[in-house]
This record gives sequence, structure tokens and C-alpha cells, in this order.
Amino acid sequence: MTTLSPEELDAARAEMLELVRTFTAKEIIPVAGHFDHADEYPERIVEQMKEMGLFGITVPAEYGGLGLDLLTYVMVVEELSYGWMSVSGFLNTHFMACYLIKTFGTEQQKTDLLPRLATGEIRAAYCLSEPDAGSDVANIRTRAVRDGDEYVLNGTKMWITNGREAGLCAMLVKTSDADPSHRGMSVMLVEKEPGADVSGGISVSPNIHKLGYRGVETVELSISDHRVPATALLGGEENVGFSQMMSAVELGRINIAARAVGVAQRAFDESIRYAQERKTFGKPIAQHQAIQLKLGDMGTKLHAARLVARDAAERKARGERADLVAGMAKLFCSEVCWEITQEALRIHGGNGYAAEYPIERLYRDAPLMIVGEGTNEIQKMVIGRRLLEDHAIER
Ligand SMILES: Cc1cc2nc3c(=O)[nH]c(=O)nc-3n(C[C@H](O)[C@H](O)[C@H](O)COP(=O)(O)OP(=O)(O)OC[C@H]3O[C@@H](n4cnc5c(N)ncnc54)[C@H](O)[C@@H]3O)c2cc1C
Repeated sequence: MTTLSPEELDAARAEMLELVRTFTAKEIIPVAGHFDHADEYPERIVEQMKEMGLFGITVPAEYGGLGLDLLTYVMVVEELSYGWMSVSGFLNTHFMACYLIKTFGTEQQKTDLLPRLATGEIRAAYCLSEPDAGSDVANIRTRAVRDGDEYVLNGTKMWITNGREAGLCAMLVKTSDADPSHRGMSVMLVEKEPGADVSGGISVSPNIHKLGYRGVETVELSISDHRVPATALLGGEENVGFSQMMSAVELGRINIAARAVGVAQRAFDESIRYAQERKTFGKPIAQHQAIQLKLGDMGTKLHAARLVARDAAERKARGERADLVAGMAKLFCSEVCWEITQEALRIHGGNGYAAEYPIERLYRDAPLMIVGEGTNEIQKMVIGRRLLEDHAIER
């Protein structure tokens, strides 16, 4: 929730978007291809994002953040992803951890962590998945055992984005053998040394080599007898971590939707430009009806995707139940993005396959959004179940 009046918020949002659009055009678009192909961490971009306050964009002002709302965040993610999807990846897990702390944290956790997170002094990872538990979250094995004033953590977390550079890991662990198992899970706020391969009992694997989403590291964390103070337990309450983490996943899904819109918009704009420049059979390909049909479909779906993503953000920001709309936004926008990047590749012909054109990168980045924050198959099942439960579609 923001404390700004609607007018102040509109003005702050417009100002922030202008700033981010200029930043994307000047600092991200010219270098995205280089960093993607080299799979290199863009340190300067991350430092500039810190200076712009982006790591604290939704952190309340009293804890040192900008205090802006979820819709603003979504629009910022669209803009950054238009330049390079990985840049929004630096923010997303951080943003989810900030949300967890501001929503469920104790006052001590808020005052200790949020100001440092807001400036980017420490960045955060979101640690849910394990080697044998992605869709099947109930199957996590990482465990925290209370020992006096501390917890001792053991287990493995897989696919952890920002896992090396993060100074804070919001980690889902088991704290009891309750049945069903989600009633025995808690969230630990685990601090570690940013950039280190080993920090206490936490070892960071080499970066996983990925199809796309490069430049932002994704790693495995092996946790062996790692001790944290008992105050690291989110909200000071055991066995309520599953619903806390799932509430943040809703935000992650809205973030994916926004990211998909940004990538799809870029693929669409590149396609329009290319179709007007490239000539075959004596005229720009844009004048061939087959290309116009593609552009018509792409533009229509892109517009619908943006509306769905922003609607989900606005509902969640208003405090409405948003699991259904967040899931629908994630599902729809990621599928539309995947489709649009494929069509963009076709429109570019052979050049769509060449690394010097951005389409090749957009095409590799798009599938992550189908898998991340819950696969689209799982998304459809969750949506289907919800609709069966209470016919939740508004008329
Ligand atoms: C680049 C990248 C970054 C990531 N970053 C993070 C991160 O920062 N933090 C984090 O915690 N996780 C992260 N993840 C993990 C991601 O959330 C999981 O990969 C995702 O949830 C899927 O889990 P899985 O890979 O274990 O696939 P599985 O769960 O093994 O699924 C495999 C296939 O089976 C299907 N399937 C599974 N169960 C069912 C079912 N009941 N019915 C029908 N179909 C089913 C799935 O849809 C999928 O098609 C990341 C993943 C990637 C690729």
C-alpha cells in the first residue's frame, strides 16, 4: 500500500516511467546483445538501478524506499524488459523478498532489512525450488531445526536467481513433519556474503548455463549445518511459511506477465520496423497481406496481454484476492509473448536467426516465462480448480 494521494502517485509514476524509459534506451538497449551473448553480469547497469532507487521502488518511504505501488512496478518491469529481460530479473526476486518482509515481517526485520534492501546495499534471492521440488512444492526437503537461539539449516535449493550476488535469501524450509506437509513450512531470512562461493554453511554452485535469461546468475545453493539466529524466522512464527511464500508467488506471476509484455512489445516493434524496411517482390514485406495478418494478430494479442497484466496488478494493489487473475495474467501473457517472438522470427526471415538482430535473443528469453513462477500447465490446473470452486469469472 502506498501513502501517496492518487494525484501524487500518478505524478510519481509518470516521472519514474520517463526515467526508466530513458535509462532503457540509453543504457540497456545498446549493450543488451553484448552482455547476453557473453553471459556477463552487467555490474554498471545494476549500480545505476540502485542509484535510481529501483531496488526500493515498492518499499515504504519510512523504510527508505520510494513507496510506489504495484502498477508502477509492473510498468517499470515492462520498460526494462523491453530493453533486456534479464534486467527485470535482478529486481523480481528482490521485490518478492521485500514484499514478504513488509507484509509478514516483525518490526525488527523491517527496520533491519528493508532500508538496506531499498538502496540495493544488499540484494535478495527467493529460494523455493529444490532438485526434487519445483511444481511439487509440498515435497521440499530443506529443513530448519531449532537449537537454542538459533536454527540449523540443511538442504539444497535449486534454480536460485541472483543466488550468488544476493546478501539475503528468503528461503522456504520445513520446521515440522506436519501432514499435509505445507502446514509444517516456514520462511527463513538468511543473510549471506554477496558474491562469495562459500558463506558459512552455504555453498554456491557455478552458474547454470541457460538458453536465455543470461547475465543474471541462476545457481544451486547447498546448505550444510548453516546457523541463523532465531530472529531470522519471518514474522517470528513457525509453520505459516507456505502461504507467505505463495502470496509472494502471486506477485512473481504478475511480474512475469509484465516481463512478457515488455519482451513481446519489443518483438512487435522490431517486426513493424523490419516489415517496412525489408523489400521482396518489389515492395516492403509489410505490404504483403500474409505479413499484415501476422502483425494484426500480434498487435491485438499484445494489447490484450498488457490489459490483463495491469488489471492483475491493480487488483492486487487494491488488496483484492488476486490468485486467479495473477495466474491468468502469467499464463496468457507468457503464451502471447512466446507466440509473438516466434512470429517476429518468421517476419525477420533468415535475419531472425542471426545473433546481430535482437529477435534471436527475445526468442530465447521468451520460454522462461512459460516455466518460471509455476509452469503454465500447473497454472491452467490451478485456474481450472478455482473456476470450478466458485465460478469466479465476473460478468
Ligand atoms: C532460469 C530459471 C530461474 C529460476 N529461478 C528461480 C528462483 O529464483 N527461485 C526458485 O525458487 N525457483 C526458480 N526457478 C524454478 C522454477 O520455478 C521451476 O523450474 C518451475 O516451478 C518448474 O519446476 P521444475 O523445474 O521442478 O519442473 P517439474 O515440476 O519437474 O515439472 C516438469 C513438467 O511436468 C509438468 N507437471 C508437473 N506436475 C504436474 C501435474 N501435477 N500435472 C501436470 N503436469 C505436471 C510441468 O508442468 C512440467 O511441464 C527458476 C527456473 C528457471 C528455469
